[in-house]
Amino acid sequence: MMSNSETASEHTRRRKVIFCDFDGTITENDNIIAIVKHFNPLGWESIVDDIVSQRITIKDGVGKLFRLLPASQREEVIAYAIGNARIRNGFAELLEYCKLQDIEFLVTSGGIDFFVYPLLAPFDISVSHIYCNGSDFSGDQIEITWPNPCDEHCSNSNGCGMCKTTIIRRYPEEQYIRILIGDSVTDFAGAKLAEIVYSRSYLTVKCKELGLPYIEYETFHHILDDLKARQSRED
Ligand SMILES: [Mg+2]
Ligand SMILES: [Zn+2]
Repeated sequence: MMSNSETASEHTRRRKVIFCDFDGTITENDNIIAIVKHFNPLGWESIVDDIVSQRITIKDGVGKLFRLLPASQREEVIAYAIGNARIRNGFAELLEYCKLQDIEFLVTSGGIDFFVYPLLAPFDISVSHIYCNGSDFSGDQIEITWPNPCDEHCSNSNGCGMCKTTIIRRYPEEQYIRILIGDSVTDFAGAKLAEIVYSRSYLTVKCKELGLPYIEYETFHHILDDLKARQSRED
């Protein structure tokens, strides 16, 4: 016969869902910064400063950065972004584990479609599980488009560009164990909602500062090990 607590945990068994950042998380570096650094259009540094110091929103800043680049450079920009990026170790293994364990895996990225989709193409992730910003090369300059805006609950007044918390809120905590993987300030609002936070770099600093629990990782193998350890405790 089951004890009361076992019966209760059976009733409340929730499915795990992972919200994984892209730039600086799935890829080792930030691709947007790498692009503007490489093509070096006049004025990019001050825009990045404005974003980092939160004088302008991510959405306004990223939009402005790409408007510095002529749309005619499309092929060079795409080729550079894809050629320059490196996937963090253990990513394929983590995806395989998620598939086996029926853990839903979502990419929640503030990156741009023209590098996010090609870089993820070798991996078995459904396109419907990849959230990122779009791009339009039909004008004179590269224009970023925003198919995933903030909902009415986001405190960023539509400044996120790709709103990670809006996606997370579609997975209610009554039904899901929400797991976030990230590396920067743009992951922090999501980290506050998530039950498990895997962090590195600036996200770790932010979590420490505000006393939010986190588990540090350097490769996806660390995350995989931790997920497996949790699983064996649950079984
Ligand atoms: Mg990132
Ligand atoms: Zn938002």
